[in-house]
Amino acid sequence: MIEVIREVIRCFVEESPDNRFPENGQPFFDEPLIGYAAADDPLFNDYKRIIGEFHRTPHEVMETAYGTGARAATVISWILPITRPTRESNRRETIYPSPAWARTRYFGEHFNAALRRHVTEWLTGQGYRAAAPQLEASWQEFADTPVGRASTWSERHAAYAAGLGTFSLNDALITPRGIAHRCGSVITDLLLTPSPRPYPHHYYNCLYYREKSCGVCIERCPAGAISHQGHNKDACDRYGHDVVAAAVAEKYGVTQTGCGLCLTKVPCEGGIPAGKPGS
Ligand code: SF4
Ligand code: SF4
Repeated sequence: MIEVIREVIRCFVEESPDNRFPENGQPFFDEPLIGYAAADDPLFNDYKRIIGEFHRTPHEVMETAYGTGARAATVISWILPITRPTRESNRRETIYPSPAWARTRYFGEHFNAALRRHVTEWLTGQGYRAAAPQLEASWQEFADTPVGRASTWSERHAAYAAGLGTFSLNDALITPRGIAHRCGSVITDLLLTPSPRPYPHHYYNCLYYREKSCGVCIERCPAGAISHQGHNKDACDRYGHDVVAAAVAEKYGVTQTGCGLCLTKVPCEGGIPAGKPGS
């Protein structure tokens, strides 16, 4: 069944017209990475401590969607790698995102929502229960929490639980296809074998945490939102939502965009950086 689901997701990414720039028909995203986490993984309870009590466990999402007593078995998580031409266009920028980057962030996320719906409908069509946490009416985002902007479901944390990558100095997720991506997930009562988490620790793929080197993303950030102490979510949010949006959103035909400069022209852009031998 794991291979069938992989194929359902892969085909939708390959064939959906929603995964295309309207202006030239090129895709927003390359072939996805897909992983599976057990709904009972203790990590999902840890996230209530790490992110906030408001962050839901897979069982809580299923109960909200299907009623008290509904249980989850698996979290299906995916990474949608941003294509090389879009990444290259953003590498050349130093203040605002490139048009292709901004349009991928905006229209590509619409596609990501369509993928969540597609996987949910496919699973329910097979007789399983399924819910996409970010599409649930009960999903909420909070602008001001002790960890900055946060929501009732973190796609990055689900992807980490599913073995798809590790966290980074700039608060993103470095996967085998790099840090420039969007991620999504669907929870189901279909029991699937969890993917291994192959990394020695939860920051391993970031060179700064692995060997105290790199830090290139610090210099890439035009808002000064990254330092050796980590990522200042509020400063990043202010820059993306206020400065960038006011400067380029209308021109690029979007209503919302981050800048993503720290995700391009960095050693982790398109893969896990090698680092020093033996590190
Ligand atoms: S640029 Fe370097 S320090 Fe920044 S997230 Fe990537 S690997 Fe880590
Ligand atoms: S997305 Fe932009 S503002 Fe936010 S940390 Fe990265 S470079 Fe800085």
